Amino acid sequence: MPSSRQVLLAARPVGEVKASDFEVVEVEVPEPSENEFVVELTHLSIDPAMRGWMNDVRSYVPPVGIGEVMRAGAVGRVTASRHDGFAEGELVRGIFGVTEHAVSDGGGVDKVVLGGASEATHLGVLGLTGMTAYFGLLDVGRVQPGDTVLVSGAAGAVGSVVGQLAKIKDARVVGIAGGPEKCGMLVEELGFDVALDYKSDDFRSDLRKHTPDGVDVFFDNVGGKILDLGLARLARGARVVICGAISQYNNTGPAPGPSNYMMLLVARATMAGFLVFDYADRYPEAAAEMSKWLSEGRLKSIEDTVRGDVGSFPEMLARLFAGRNTGKLVLELDR
Ligand code: NAP
Repeated sequence: MPSSRQVLLAARPVGEVKASDFEVVEVEVPEPSENEFVVELTHLSIDPAMRGWMNDVRSYVPPVGIGEVMRAGAVGRVTASRHDGFAEGELVRGIFGVTEHAVSDGGGVDKVVLGGASEATHLGVLGLTGMTAYFGLLDVGRVQPGDTVLVSGAAGAVGSVVGQLAKIKDARVVGIAGGPEKCGMLVEELGFDVALDYKSDDFRSDLRKHTPDGVDVFFDNVGGKILDLGLARLARGARVVICGAISQYNNTGPAPGPSNYMMLLVARATMAGFLVFDYADRYPEAAAEMSKWLSEGRLKSIEDTVRGDVGSFPEMLARLFAGRNTGKLVLELDR
């Protein structure tokens, strides 16, 4: 019987994930029952949120159970089908898990027409990453021409799209990222007006210097100290978009609250969190606009595709927390 490998959550990680928090098991390639199909995965999306899904706490989705396949978004090809809506050979995208093969009843699965874009782009700019940037900036941040937009995690998957969308909307964009190389890429390749290295000693004063009129939209992916420093720069009527807080995901205790929150009062600002899944009805609208901007060359998809097998998942996830990715991190599965 042909076999398939999958990664199970073996223990709830404490702090950073370690290889022993997972178990790689070999199972038989599944057969579809009626109204099901089997997908052979080709590309796995590696996301900071995965770290949160491993914690046994109240969240927007239930935690992954011990002994369950680790949850992951992915693209793959249908290899066997007893489902009227999905035929063998079709390319599909869904939450299939960290596994070589998955069985699905089609719930939450959509078909992918590559249309000249790679599978990684369909997980990135044209996938949930792009949807997050689009709705977070346009709907929650309500960016306007002439605004100053501050984006943290700017060289990452979501951040690199947010900055480019803000430029498309005629805003001035200040990115925050780790290290001169990432900052150089943001300005030279993606057209950010300024990119500031939060690891540099001059970061605080640079942030003040480059936001002389304050910040109208602060799109925060990082939380912690960077959130506090950004709050200190708010312009009157600013919108703070809480997209994520990667600096806090490996905490073993509660995340500290932002000590500068009174700046919301001073600036008559609002701070709102959002979840991309709430915009599912409007994904087609966003994907159509993003595809157009990609084809016009106004939007670039920055991808970091690494080849490996499902067993490399813990190391891949750790890359996000060490800043060892630029743009969308994707694990392309070896065959
Ligand atoms: P990503 O930005 O591609 O990867 C993570 C990046 O975060 C790293 O490359 C690293 O870049 C930075 N980072 C890691 N630890 C840090 C720290 N302690 N301080 C500062 N920066 C740190 O990941 P992504 O997929 O685009 O996700 C970005 C954020 O969006 C995450 O917080 C994620 O949870 C959130 N998100 C939210 C939604 C939603 O619906 N609300 C949906 C998707 C994603 P540097 O080298 O610059 O440090």
